[in-house]
Formats: sequence, structure tokens, C-alpha cells
Amino acid sequence: MAKHVGFIGLGNMGTPMASRLLEAGYQLTVFDVRKECIDALVAKGARSAASAAAVASAVETVLLSLPDPAIVRKVALGADGVIAGTKVKTMLDLSTTGATAAREIAAALAAKGITSVDSPVSGGVSGAVKGTLAVMVACAKPLYAELEPMLKHIGNVFFIGERPGMGQTMKLANNLLSATATAATAEAIVFGVKSGLDPAVMCDVINAGSGRNTATQDKFPRQILTRKFNQGFATGLMFKDVRLCLEEAEALGVPMTVSASVRSVWARANDELGAGSDITAFVQLLERATGVEVKGK
Ligand code: NAD
Repeated sequence: MAKHVGFIGLGNMGTPMASRLLEAGYQLTVFDVRKECIDALVAKGARSAASAAAVASAVETVLLSLPDPAIVRKVALGADGVIAGTKVKTMLDLSTTGATAAREIAAALAAKGITSVDSPVSGGVSGAVKGTLAVMVACAKPLYAELEPMLKHIGNVFFIGERPGMGQTMKLANNLLSATATAATAEAIVFGVKSGLDPAVMCDVINAGSGRNTATQDKFPRQILTRKFNQGFATGLMFKDVRLCLEEAEALGVPMTVSASVRSVWARANDELGAGSDITAFVQLLERATGVEVKGK
């Protein structure tokens, strides 16, 4: 595979992933609607392009890391989108869009001779910086073999299947669990603090016991007890992931009783804390309701 690729969407995840590819010796042509994000990558050696179509006219492989399915659809298939590029052969989407959007986009691009690969990631901003993300790839096996060496620079690469959307289904299952753990841990820790327990001791005990999860191991100790609330993942994006997962589960006839409650608490967080709030601010809903603060000593 050519060592010159395109990267569109240079946000919390896109910037560190693109930076790792630059550090690994890839040439990058980049685009984002925010000029400051492009400038930061150009300062590290990337070339800038004026649109998604311009990126897709400069390279054969274009990577996307964009907020939601509507934006991915527009950037992939819009008038100035990847589909209008003259050189592109493969579009690899690192965003979380759900399987339905991935299938629709893959079909529209295939009609123009462009192969779409869904390749969502998990592991947060810290995983993107360290190159330890879980990368969930769905595409034909020979193409996977071509893409794997590049994707290894951003994380641990998993072949999920050949059908478009399979990587997305894997990612939604993962994030449903992450959203559930974050919400349930907030309830458990606020319950303990309200009764007089120390939240740091609670996390230590839970992490040595059977309740441990990514909220008790990472989000609470690093972002909540320190009152930083800066995990780098927005509440609106987490709510999108839970919503997409339930919509797809409902379409498949899979009952999701616990997850329906998880969706409703994240809907509330999205309304009351705002879509742009950090996911770790979720605990503040319970703090407000109970008058406690989950803070380290
Ligand atoms: P972000 O909002 O920080 O970044 C998205 C970027 O896309 C922004 O820089 C924005 O300016 C750009 N953008 C928006 N519309 C555009 C357009 N039309 N053309 C070009 N650029 C455009 O989001 P993020 O946290 O980096 O997440 C990106 C994707 O990865 C999402 O789908 C998210 O669900 C997923 N994800 C995020 C995390 C995380 O921890 N943040 C972890 C795993 C997966």
C-alpha cells in the first residue's frame, strides 16, 4: 500500500491517530472543517487539502474520523465528498456510525468503484495517543492484509468479518457496555459516598473485586476523583452510540431491557449536561440529585 494516505476529521481521536501515522513515516493529506486542526497537523508535516474531494483526488486511501453517521454520509457521498475524488480507491471509516449507515455508504461508493471499509476504534484519546486502540475491521480478506500494517500503528487490529457494517456492530456492542459501566458505576459510587464511604477506597476495592470495569479502573480515578472531567469523549457521541445500538438491536428483534434504561439516562445527560460535555460529567447528574461530591482526598 502506498505510504501517502488522506485523513479527514482531525478531532480528539483523528489528530492523535493521524499524528501516529506521520511519526510512522506516512505522508498525509488532511482536511477538517476547523482550520486550526489542519494547521496543527501541517506543523507536524502533513499537507492540507481544501475539501474531502481534494483529499480523495490526492491519494488512493482515505481515512475518516468524524462525529456521526449524517456527517460521514455527507463527507463520503456529498458533492464535495470522497466520492468526487479522482484518485481514491479505498475509504476507511474509523468513526462510529452503526452498521446501517456503513452498509448504505459502502453500496453508494461501490457503485463508483470505491471500496468502503468500516474500521471503528475503541480505547479513547489515551489509546489513540499511545497507539493501543482496538481497531475493528470489516472488509475483504486480501484488502485487510494490505491495510493491517498501516492500522497497526494506531492499535491492535482485529478482523471482524467481510460484510460491511460488521466492524460497526462490534463497536456498538463494546460502547453499549462502556456506557452501561459508566452510568452504573456513577450510581454505585454516589450510593457509597452518600453513606459516608471514600470514593477512592471504593474504586480500589472494586478494582480488586468483581465489579471492576473501565469506569472504576480509569474514568473515576483519573477524571472524576480529580474533578478534571476531561476524558476526551463527548456525551453527545456516547448517546449517539447507545441510540444506534438500540435501534439496530430493535431492528434485529433482540430485547435490550437494561440497555433501554441506559439509553434513557444518557438521553438525560445529553439534555441536561449538553452534547459537548465530557462523558465523565455524567456523575454530576447524581451529585446534583443527592448533594454529594465524588472527590479524592
Ligand atoms: P471530535 O468531535 O473531537 O472530532 C470530529 C472532527 O470532525 C472535528 O475535528 C470536526 O471539526 C470534524 N468535522 C466535522 N464535520 C466535518 C466535515 N463535514 N468535514 C470535515 N471534518 C468535519 O470527535 P472524536 O471524539 O474525535 O470522535 C470521532 C469519531 O470517533 C466519532 O464517531 C466517535 O464516536 C468515535 N470515537 C471517539 C472516541 C473518543 O474517546 N473520543 C473513542 C472511540 C471512537
